[in-house]
Amino acid sequence: MGRGTPRIGVYPGTFDPITLGHLDIIRRGSKLVDRLIIGVATNPSKSPLFTLEERVGHVRRETAGIRNVDVVAFDALLMHFAEEMGASLILRGLRAVADFEYEFQMAGMNQQLNSAIETVFLMADVALQPIASRLVKEIAQYGGAIDRFVTPAIAADVRARVARNGISGSRAAVQPAESGRGR
Ligand code: ADP
Repeated sequence: MGRGTPRIGVYPGTFDPITLGHLDIIRRGSKLVDRLIIGVATNPSKSPLFTLEERVGHVRRETAGIRNVDVVAFDALLMHFAEEMGASLILRGLRAVADFEYEFQMAGMNQQLNSAIETVFLMADVALQPIASRLVKEIAQYGGAIDRFVTPAIAADVRARVARNGISGSRAAVQPAESGRGR
């Protein structure tokens, strides 16, 4: 990009697991900034299937071919994380109308926390838009094929984890809302 201060973007998410939809947003977003920092959120309230370390490892492995991408774990207010990283924009992906309400509210509140950091929304390739981590886990739990939604390495990791957890463990992973316990 241009001279002067490098433009830094933060793309936050849970990435449990990283999907082809996320990767498409990362590829598109990486072209808009000098440096794209993928912020992997702890998000214990979502009872992730993979630990924070595992998710960071997955995102690093899957984005290793993109020159200007860094992966950082965070357990803080998103706006504080973005400020700490020196970011001038927060990148989010928009899928359907269903995402809109939540994203709209979050962007609005973040704007009030720090109006100098813009939230920028990108759309993934049309074919990748329906992909959601939650559904990937649900499909894997019932033995369905997830290979169209994630990379081969992630598909193998998800299958192994679901098999190891058995039904009760994987159920906790797809019904996180009311439990809040363990992973
Ligand atoms: P979070 O817990 O913050 O929603 P996710 O890992 O589910 O984290 O998603 C991170 C971001 O990626 C969100 O902005 C989400 O809307 C976006 N995203 C996820 N899947 C897709 C997809 N298939 N197409 C476009 N954006 C997506």
